[in-house]
Amino acid sequence: MEVVPVEHFEFQQPSEAPVFEPSINEFDDPISYISKIRPVAEKYGICRIIPPEEWRPPFSVDLNKFTFNPRVQPLKELEATTRVKLMFLQNLAEFWELMGTSLKLPVVEKKVLDLYVLDQLVKKEGGFINATTNRKWSYISHTMGFQPDKNHGMAIKSHYERWLGPYNTIQKTNFDRRRRKKGVEVLTGSVKRGVNPGCISFSKRLCEFWRRKGMRLSWPLIDKKSVDLFALHEAASTAGGLVDWCSIARSMQFKENSASDLRLCYNKLIKPFVESGGEESVQDADVCDKCMLNDNAENIVVCVGCGTVYHLDCLRPQLIDYSKVPKGNWNCYACIKEKLNKSREPYGFDQAEKHYTLEEFGQMAVQFKEEHFGMPCLSVPIEEVEKEYWRLLTDLEHDTMVEYGADIHSVDHGMGFPLRDEANSVKMETDEYTQSKWNLNNIPVIETSVYSHIGTNVPGVTIPWMYIGMCFSTFCWHIEDHWSYSINYLHWGEPKTWYGIPGKDAELFEKVLKNVAPVLFDGQPDLLHDLSTTVNPNTLMKHGMKIFRTDQKAGEFVVTFPRAYHAGFNQGFNFAEAVNFAPADWIPIGRACIDHYASLLHVCVFSHDELICKLAKKGSSLDQSLVKATLKDMAVMLESESNKRKLITKSGVTKTERVIFEKIPDDNRQCAHCKTTCFLSAVKCSCREDIFCINDYFKIKEACGCPPSNFIFKYRYDLDELLTLITNCKVHLAKN
Ligand SMILES: [Zn+2]
Ligand SMILES: [Zn+2]
Ligand SMILES: [Zn+2]
Ligand SMILES: [Zn+2]
Repeated sequence: MEVVPVEHFEFQQPSEAPVFEPSINEFDDPISYISKIRPVAEKYGICRIIPPEEWRPPFSVDLNKFTFNPRVQPLKELEATTRVKLMFLQNLAEFWELMGTSLKLPVVEKKVLDLYVLDQLVKKEGGFINATTNRKWSYISHTMGFQPDKNHGMAIKSHYERWLGPYNTIQKTNFDRRRRKKGVEVLTGSVKRGVNPGCISFSKRLCEFWRRKGMRLSWPLIDKKSVDLFALHEAASTAGGLVDWCSIARSMQFKENSASDLRLCYNKLIKPFVESGGEESVQDADVCDKCMLNDNAENIVVCVGCGTVYHLDCLRPQLIDYSKVPKGNWNCYACIKEKLNKSREPYGFDQAEKHYTLEEFGQMAVQFKEEHFGMPCLSVPIEEVEKEYWRLLTDLEHDTMVEYGADIHSVDHGMGFPLRDEANSVKMETDEYTQSKWNLNNIPVIETSVYSHIGTNVPGVTIPWMYIGMCFSTFCWHIEDHWSYSINYLHWGEPKTWYGIPGKDAELFEKVLKNVAPVLFDGQPDLLHDLSTTVNPNTLMKHGMKIFRTDQKAGEFVVTFPRAYHAGFNQGFNFAEAVNFAPADWIPIGRACIDHYASLLHVCVFSHDELICKLAKKGSSLDQSLVKATLKDMAVMLESESNKRKLITKSGVTKTERVIFEKIPDDNRQCAHCKTTCFLSAVKCSCREDIFCINDYFKIKEACGCPPSNFIFKYRYDLDELLTLITNCKVHLAKN
């Protein structure tokens, strides 16, 4: 399928993100180095750090044992606006399938007409009638890129009427299902030609039979293929008493092991109908739902979904070619709407069928890139790959698939950086890197990173993940959990191209994305958190957003700042490792994130309050900057908590109970409303099992309507204890 481009699209490179080259003296502790460059780098969302020449950590994955299972990424489904278009065209094709016709993409000027763009343009003009009365068709034709001197307006208009008009009309109209009562009076037409049983399809009679029993016949599926019940009926009835289900399965092109399913289908759906002698008894079903006449039987259509009958010329809106019964299975409009509006599965990637060793994946990756560009991998300029990548993401014509080994953790077969546990068995040179604070296995345990105090391992957050890329494999727009920093190291291979957006523009980004692809959020409000959607940076730039890019080469780090959206793709076969971290300046950001998560009903990865209280308790052993930030956050926390506790007491809740929340698994202490992980406090009603966070106290009251005496207030610390924690921190600060 070729799609007419509205504008001839050429990717415009965003400006470059900053690059830092620390000297060997500056290159000591990543947390303090990054806080030093933050005032400059943060404004770009992302930055690149080139370690000193002499810093060359060994690659420590066990190449003989390490295998992984990549994800499959179909390139034409990755980009938000392309996916919207794809979904539209799939929906349109399905619509025509349900109408008993196949969608044939019309051709204008030897090019396939882009029905999605046409539909958008007509909507912009206020719909078909407005476009016609305002004589907009030649304007629409020009906008779609057709030559102005040739007037294709009328052709485009008729293509619209043929393929898009009925689709839009039916989407807009409400079709009530008429529930006909049994024994409804059948009006006899003035020209009664009698009922020709041959014209009444088997499926209609079967549907009607079940409808009379108060049941909707839904078409059975075996092996994802719908079963032709008429063929099944024919095959079973000609077989007489001795039915060979295996041969029926074969004749209907099912696998032989479907035989028992087919028999079940027959016994459940068809046999009762045959045995009731239903063949004759449902003749009066041949009554047009609109005019209630049963004449003119050659011109009826029967819905395969619900068995409703219409005369072709009684149907509104009429079928395009309403002198002919559609060749395929026809569905009534109510059924079509129901089937088209079925909720979609959230979009996500499938795992590849294959497990690869690094060597196997590398061979596949190199071959793919060489064949795609027709030259050796390293001869393709970075800008060429970038342009081609964004072109492929809008290309509906080809099905280019790539694979990406992402979010992989393997202690057994080593990580990219040497692990501490192996320290005894490695050489001295390796040992330097085992201890190095820039070794991503160590960043989570650096004392000045808040995450070193979480106490449990959270994959990807406090323990690194590995990423094995090939040309075009993609990481979609996202921010880190709890709005952390992230640091990524490219161990070897071809570059990784990054795009970043400053953290302060995060909400703008979310707004723009909802604006350019609203339908994607319909069944998937948490779309961006699913890491399966990217957007062309040029689209974002057109909406006034600042985007920055960088090419991370082997041996280089990329750092992303809190709430800075980032995305990108790999230039070729490569191996990267990444982890989150959170210096003192992250603490207030982490608190803001928790409030944001609660407003989105988004589950937390850990409890922020729990982490802060843990830090406060450690007090004296902590770095000064961390104590200061903890103290500030504790003050904010205490004020909000004491205000809310007052409200709860005031409303008449008197029962209280201390709960050691950190001993309860996170899943079992989620607020039933906002999903936040409870730590400081929670409210429970004796009438239900779940708990609510202190913010949602009034929600639980509303939900169960019980008197305050039913509620119990659960708390971790009383207010005095929280105050003591704060005082201890202050004392510690004063001492130093
Ligand atoms: Zn009629
Ligand atoms: Zn129907
Ligand atoms: Zn809540
Ligand atoms: Zn209750």
